[in-house]
Amino acid sequence: MLLAARYVLPIAAPHIVDGAVLIRGDHIVEVGESEKMRKVYPDEEVRDFGLAVLMPGFVDLHTHLEFSAMRGLVDDLPYSQWKLQLLEKEERLDAQDWNDAALLGAAEALESGITTVADISDSGASAHALASAGVRALVYREVSTMDPREIDDVMARATEDIQEWNELGDPSRLTAGIAPHGTYSTHPTLYRKVAEKAIAEGLPVSTHLATSRDEYDFVRYGSSRLAVDYRQTFSGVDVGWLPTGVSPVRYVEQLGLYEVPELLAVHCTQVDDSDIETLAEHNVAVATCPRCNAKLGMGVAPIAAFLHRGIRLGIGTDSPASNNTLDMFDEMRIGLLIQRAVVGYEPHLVARHYVKMATLDAARALGMEDRVGSLEPGKQADIIAVDISHSHQIPTLYPYSTLVHTANQENVVFTMVAGQVLYESGRWSLLDIDRIQARAEEMRVKLRA
Ligand SMILES: [Zn+2]
Repeated sequence: MLLAARYVLPIAAPHIVDGAVLIRGDHIVEVGESEKMRKVYPDEEVRDFGLAVLMPGFVDLHTHLEFSAMRGLVDDLPYSQWKLQLLEKEERLDAQDWNDAALLGAAEALESGITTVADISDSGASAHALASAGVRALVYREVSTMDPREIDDVMARATEDIQEWNELGDPSRLTAGIAPHGTYSTHPTLYRKVAEKAIAEGLPVSTHLATSRDEYDFVRYGSSRLAVDYRQTFSGVDVGWLPTGVSPVRYVEQLGLYEVPELLAVHCTQVDDSDIETLAEHNVAVATCPRCNAKLGMGVAPIAAFLHRGIRLGIGTDSPASNNTLDMFDEMRIGLLIQRAVVGYEPHLVARHYVKMATLDAARALGMEDRVGSLEPGKQADIIAVDISHSHQIPTLYPYSTLVHTANQENVVFTMVAGQVLYESGRWSLLDIDRIQARAEEMRVKLRA
């Protein structure tokens, strides 16, 4: 099949005006000028999207799709209060609810042009939903406890789940990893056990790190709302937490976490130059979640400094529970504008670079850049079409600017993963959207009662 559009963005190469992409089976065969390719392949079926952008699907570098039923449930509170309220409300959901919430998230991901998801899941619902929706995914099994007596059990259950998730579907689309939740919810011994397991098995690891001032104060000074309210509510155990005197980045270094082969740290808003150096030295990748960080008052990640030190970096949505939509256009736009407003103009922080961060750079952060993240011969056909023909988008001069400054998730008209069309203009090929939406309404009633 030949996909054609006004603009083709290979990402790893300059954009093509009036371009086309040739697909055979699950992969890309050729990328070039539409007119030439139509002549070379006269018998090929052509899908011409007109005034649109063809580009690699977005890589959402951090999310929790099973929290999709919590959209707008706890708004306008700072991070630690938001987290506490969510923990209280999530008790109302049963296993079927979590599964359908994750399916709602998977449907929104495809509708928004997200073709690869790095998800942290506690219930396992995200893994099942992503497998059945056909989305490419790395799902990290979340582990957390501050009670040392629970650690062996927590690890045993995680081991079982990871094995099950790895057998859920096509291994080229879905793989499993492990995720110690964060410093205030993960006992030091649990971090060590995760590191040992990840090193022994080559298992990818993701963790929330240096997320907010409350977390920083908890680790360094042993105080903050997370030290009191969170522990009483969530762990119900007095862990005898003492100030460590170091930053969160330094603290997990002492627990051996940076020895794991593939580590993805999430948020990283509370880092100084020495922390950035530590992350760079250990080749830790970072998922930045600009909209979630702004909405929950978590801080601003030092993107220019990360890039300057060569840290692998991409963008995550962090789920509808924290920032209401899985809209990667909003993430790029707000991420760029916050940096420019707070830090000032940086030559690297321009629209083209944000599109790369949301695709190829994020694939690199997951170690998947040999398969996805750009339109290149031999890579997987994970491709989206973004309609840019609306009156607020024309005339278009530079497609990267159009995407970052004028587009949103509803402009995505076509989403393909591994050559398979999974979403097109309001229709999902593998999901029963009417049932999922009806279930979302039932969960709304439960959660808001
Ligand atoms: Zn998260």
